[in-house]
Amino acid sequence: MKMICVGRNYREHALELNNPVPAQPLIFFKPDTALLRDNKDFYYPDFTQDLHHECEIVLRIGREGKSIQKDFALDYIDGVGLGIDFTARDIQSVAKEKGHPWTLAKGFDHAAPVSAFVEPSSLPPLHDLRFRCELNGEVKQEGHSADMLFSIPDLLAFISRYITLKKGDLIFTGTPAGVGPVQPGDRVTAYLEGEKMLDFAIR
Ligand code: ZN
Repeated sequence: MKMICVGRNYREHALELNNPVPAQPLIFFKPDTALLRDNKDFYYPDFTQDLHHECEIVLRIGREGKSIQKDFALDYIDGVGLGIDFTARDIQSVAKEKGHPWTLAKGFDHAAPVSAFVEPSSLPPLHDLRFRCELNGEVKQEGHSADMLFSIPDLLAFISRYITLKKGDLIFTGTPAGVGPVQPGDRVTAYLEGEKMLDFAIR
């Protein structure tokens, strides 16, 4: 299982970090060891002083696909959930300055808490999904999949030109504006179409 993530897929988020809006999807990986399931506690790592939440729609791939056509992209998705693309912003900032990869900033152990998945057929169309992330009950991020710079079919078509998608792979589709730091003692909750999907503690 691999996790493929999309950076800067919402205009307002790209701008809040003073990044350009990309001309094509910006893709990076998280290893399977980054996965954290079942709303288990997240332990704040000792190598960062600026850990940010990035709440994102996560797609689960249901069957193998290579060079997927946009028109058929939704056939390859068998689950939709929410995830947090935890980012050590201090480590990422140094990497960005040097033109280095983001691997350590975003790929460390448990940097990817992921919710349970729901069937796409039980949700509104995937281009019309609303989600939000709260920190200690205060709304920090509100997202609408209609605002993605690259739609879900665009992303599957683009990624699968280069990288074969396999059953069980997860795709993080990018975060809307409102990212910010978390601290030990915080509680992260996230809702997809009003349903609570994530609810875990930072320790
Ligand atoms: Zn992200």
